[in-house]
This record gives sequence, structure tokens and C-alpha cells, in this order.
Amino acid sequence: MSKIAIIFTGGTIAMEKNKENGLARPALSGKAIIEKISGKINHKEIEIHDFGNYPSPHIGFSEMFSLYNLVDKISKRKDIKGIVITHGTDILEETAYFLDCIYGGVMPIVMVGAMRNSSEMQYDGTTNLINAIAVASSNKSRGYGVLVAMAGEIHAARDVTKTHTSKIETFKSKDKGLLGVIDHNDVIFYRNIKRRLTVKPKKINAKVSLIKLVAGINGDFVQYSIRNNYQGIVIEAFGRGNMPPQIAQKLKEALKLNLVVVICSRCPEGRVYPDYGYSGGAHELKQAGAILAGSMSGVKARIRLTTALSSGLDRQAIGMMFSEDEGLN
Ligand code: ASP
Repeated sequence: MSKIAIIFTGGTIAMEKNKENGLARPALSGKAIIEKISGKINHKEIEIHDFGNYPSPHIGFSEMFSLYNLVDKISKRKDIKGIVITHGTDILEETAYFLDCIYGGVMPIVMVGAMRNSSEMQYDGTTNLINAIAVASSNKSRGYGVLVAMAGEIHAARDVTKTHTSKIETFKSKDKGLLGVIDHNDVIFYRNIKRRLTVKPKKINAKVSLIKLVAGINGDFVQYSIRNNYQGIVIEAFGRGNMPPQIAQKLKEALKLNLVVVICSRCPEGRVYPDYGYSGGAHELKQAGAILAGSMSGVKARIRLTTALSSGLDRQAIGMMFSEDEGLN
């Protein structure tokens, strides 16, 4: 019989309120969460993996890479048809995209969390988990890479982001829109996505900084990245990808030293584009060798660049990868 493997990593879905101070903290094991949906699932079809009980702000590349290794191992098994990963919502989109950059298989990988902990009336962990299991079980989900199933919606790892600090319907794919929905037990995809190139790092060892621009910013953080042996810098620039001349000059120095510079926008939607010819405009940086990341967010571009540099890709290959991500080739 084919089963669904559920990897429990923690987050609010696994939290309850401490009786003394009323604060949410990690508490529930995978088994305890599964007991909450008992009667709604066939237990023989579920396999539990307790990976950890992390609040997601405690998760970094080392945990993500261990999680990938577990996913990779399980995805090669013939008795498993899909994998669900429970996760804190704060950085869920980063772990989802990290896995998506590396995982090249067709078995569905579905990430899920909750915005209310298990002591709260509106605990959304049970419905979300049942929905995620439905998505992971569906043949329709094969080949989509890593998906996020929250609040009845299905999103692609690349496009999804947490948009609200507390609302249950916080995950959105903005310009791109959701991929599909889960309606009762029906899994419906409204659109297809083109799979992206995956990379195969042996470990995650590239240092990549992400710098969000503010009015009048100078080159100090770029200088810090150069001095501390960062191999890549992602810039969340203004609008179409523009910046003050001072930081642009420093970035040109970084490019000469062979750092890979990727430019995104701090606008939540839309693409960067070399429209402007003034000093600090995206065109100047592109001419100097920076990569324009299209509509990718800074957070996702940092994951893409880190996994690519850790896999040994050079600037040209990384540039082609970002163009391919954007559907340009
Ligand atoms: N702070 C929590 C976490 O990311 C939020 C959540 O899971 O919803 O672990």
C-alpha cells in the first residue's frame, strides 16, 4: 500500500499555550498532531517522522539541508506516494523554496503549518494538515516540485509569501496567483507551472547577504560583505531595480572582485528591468555584470543564489538560471 510520509518540524501547528504564562511554545509530537485528525485519515496510510520541534525562526540552512536529505531518502521509496512537511509559518516560504531549488523528483512534497496554536479555538492545524495530505496523495500534484497548502489554497514554493502577521489566510502568491485549491477532498489545479532547474549542493557553504535599500543608503553593508568573504550579494533595490550612486559604486567593486550580485525589488510585486540610464539605475549595474532577478523576491533570490553558489555554479550559469526562472529562455 502506498503511504504518505509526514515530516514534523515544529511551528505553531505543534504548539500549545503554557498554562502558567499563556504563551505559545513547542509541545506536540507528530503522533499527538496525528491523533487530532484521527477518524479523518487511514492511519495505516500515514508514516510519522519527528524531525524536530523548532519554532521556524530557529531553522537555518543546516536544518534545511538535513530536511532535504530526509526528503530525498523518502522520495526514493516505492511504498511512499507523497511527503507532507509541517513547519512554522514564519520562514516556511524559505524552507519550501530551498527544497524546491534542490529537489528534482516528481513525488509531491507539500508544506503546511498553522496560524493558530492547538490551545486556540480557531486551531487551523487540523484542516490544513488534512488538506496537505489530500494534495500529497493526489496524482495531479506530481511534478509540481514543492507546494504549500494553507487555508484551502495550493501555492508554488517560488511564488508564495507570508503576507500578514496573524491572519489565517496569510499565504499569497501575489502577481502569480494561487496554483489551485482544496475543496473538501477535491484537489484542483487552476494552472500549471514550469519546473525550474535544480542544483545539487553537497553542503551549503556559500555566504550570501541580502541588503534592503533605504533612501540615502551608502556602500557600508556591501563593504562588510566583501571584507567578510561573502560570495554573493542580493540587493532589494528600489522600484525597477534602481539605487543610490554610492552603493552602486561599491557593488561595481564587488563585481570586479567576482562576487555575484543579484538585483531584486523591494516592491512586493512586479519585475526589475533596466529602464533607467541615470547613475545607480539598474541598467548601469546590469552592464557591470549584475544579474536582474525579474519578479523574484529578495528572500527567494538569496535562497536561489546560496544553493547555486554552494553547488559550484559560476556567474554566467547563475545568470542563465535566473533568466530561466523568469521564463526568459
Ligand atoms: N512563529 C511561528 C513559527 O514560525 C509561527 C507559526 O508557525 O505560525 O514557528
